[in-house]
Amino acid sequence: MMAEEKKVKKKVKKDINKMIKAKKKVKRIETEEDIVEVKNLLEEITDILGPCVKCGMCKSLCPVFKVLKEEAVSPRGKAIVLSDRVIDKIVFQCTLCKACEKKCPLNIKVCDAIRKSREILVLKGKELPGNQEMMENIRKSGNPFGDYSHLDKDKLYCC
Ligand code: SF4
Ligand code: SF4
Repeated sequence: MMAEEKKVKKKVKKDINKMIKAKKKVKRIETEEDIVEVKNLLEEITDILGPCVKCGMCKSLCPVFKVLKEEAVSPRGKAIVLSDRVIDKIVFQCTLCKACEKKCPLNIKVCDAIRKSREILVLKGKELPGNQEMMENIRKSGNPFGDYSHLDKDKLYCC
């Protein structure tokens, strides 16, 4: 293993350990179908990210990395972590902007891996509270933002 790759993996592991300490309890997957689905998704994620050579060329364009400055949430960090395990803090810290894919010399589809990881988290009941609220609003009122029928429609405006 190249020295640079070893260094990056060590840094990612450090970030991950910090995140795991703050981990919430996860709902267990109960049905056979869900277990099989998760297994399939994990295999698909490994297939997508397996060819990543950890060159880091994608890092400079990632808006999440630019703000958080943590290797684990950079596209390269995500490729390292998600090849091994799906961690919610990593998976949700992505805007799906695809900037990393534009720069990747191997055309690694990081966003596809992120989407599949999110599917796993949903199967495990680890959606973001905002998503749950939005779905509940759609069920109740057909509007992701909730029931606004009591407001004066003439006064509603869009940016
Ligand atoms: S995703 Fe592509 S650009 Fe980023 S580290 Fe892997 S191979 Fe390099
Ligand atoms: S798709 Fe996600 S990982 Fe890739 S550059 Fe955008 S925010 Fe970063």
